[in-house]
Amino acid sequence: MAYKKIRHHWSYAKENMDDTIAIEPSLHKNVHLKMKKNEFLQCFEVCGVPGYEDGYLLDTKEEHLRFIGVVRDILVKQKISSLTFELEFLLNMY
Ligand SMILES: [Zn+2]
Repeated sequence: MAYKKIRHHWSYAKENMDDTIAIEPSLHKNVHLKMKKNEFLQCFEVCGVPGYEDGYLLDTKEEHLRFIGVVRDILVKQKISSLTFELEFLLNMY
């Protein structure tokens, strides 16, 4: 299935405003749920992601891209485990 990608800002600093990351809408929503904006530095901090300390600053595009990859891996693992659960349920019905 193809989704129209969204332009995500890794930084709201003036010099980075046009440097966006193309990302799927559902991943985008989840990425935003796991960070909060540092108003002073105009970029994001991690909150509640295993492998990162809370408040870890994503102050480069490379760090931000790596973080998006970590969130994507978490979502894929959650999806696989919920599909496995459903499959086991269905197999036990027959
Ligand atoms: Zn965004």
